[in-house]
Amino acid sequence: MISISRLLRPEKHPFPGDSLRYAKTGSPHPPVIVWHITGRCNLSCRHCYAYAAAESLPQTGFSKTDAREFLRMTAEIKPPALLFSGGEPLCHPDFWDILYEARLVGIRTAVSTNGTLIGESEARALAKYSSYVGISLDGPRETHDSFRGRSGAFEAALRAVELTSSEGCRTGLRVTLARPILEHLAEFLELAEKLRVSRICFYHFMRSGRGVLDESLAPDGAEEDSALYRIIEWADNRAGADGRPSPEILTVGDAADSVRLYRYLASKYPFRARTAMKLLARSSGKPAGAGILSVRWDGAVFRNQFSWGAPLGNWRDIAATARRAGEKMKLARECESCGEMGTICGGRSLGFGVECRVNATSDIRPK
Ligand code: SF4
Repeated sequence: MISISRLLRPEKHPFPGDSLRYAKTGSPHPPVIVWHITGRCNLSCRHCYAYAAAESLPQTGFSKTDAREFLRMTAEIKPPALLFSGGEPLCHPDFWDILYEARLVGIRTAVSTNGTLIGESEARALAKYSSYVGISLDGPRETHDSFRGRSGAFEAALRAVELTSSEGCRTGLRVTLARPILEHLAEFLELAEKLRVSRICFYHFMRSGRGVLDESLAPDGAEEDSALYRIIEWADNRAGADGRPSPEILTVGDAADSVRLYRYLASKYPFRARTAMKLLARSSGKPAGAGILSVRWDGAVFRNQFSWGAPLGNWRDIAATARRAGEKMKLARECESCGEMGTICGGRSLGFGVECRVNATSDIRPK
């Protein structure tokens, strides 16, 4: 996760999660745990990295007893947050009990959702028991509904944003940078501004899950560079009253965004680029997805949510797995030619199992 907001204004005081991302070396913290509590979903989106669907996957590998035990063990690790994901977490029959129980054992929780199952009572419960809710929105209405495979999904997501925000729940948007969405990026940014959310997370499109089935969804390197540059510039032009970009902007899934961001700063604000470089160097050298663990519905634990190859462990040894996940990563050979840029990315782009779209000599700015 790269905080565009933090790095654009490195001299300003940090956002809440920045201490996790850019903490000084020598102060390791337990990982944020993403809990894919179910593989089921009421939608079946074209780009779903979890391949979630209504029926085909097991609902959860966790019985209620196991879920309780998992929460007890997780509380002992003291993660900065437990992020409920899926599939669609609200499809899990015991979701509300488990969310409530997580808070009872003192875990800070967040929820990633498609928003379509959130009405007034759900919004109230989320405001009460979750510190944050991230709602997926893939561009304007037609794009969103075509991606989500359901007409009306867009309206439902917007209503969820309004309901959770008005209940006082910190609410953000999650958008996937798939090619059809990039074509409507300007409209998406305009809409996001109107919604006045507190945070926007831009997820790089991942060739995993259902995302591997349709090559037309995958942007090429130039399209991604151009989109990132537009997002950075948009964020740069949105300083709030405290001088920081508002809403908070993050990108997920490509550590090479730190290189893109650094180059933008170096060309516009060289003094900030030097400070940003120091912050970035603190997170490099950690493995891809360091600071995060992904626990799937069958109990397997992975380094991140996007590449479910060989598991690192099982939820029953979550403490040992969390320790292993923080071990330093060896820089891939392909990264060696990146020189100083490799220092700030740390090779974590390749560690995510994605092809690196940035190299040391390319210029990311649109010609
Ligand atoms: S992307 Fe989200 S909403 Fe869509 S099918 Fe996957 S889990 Fe469900």
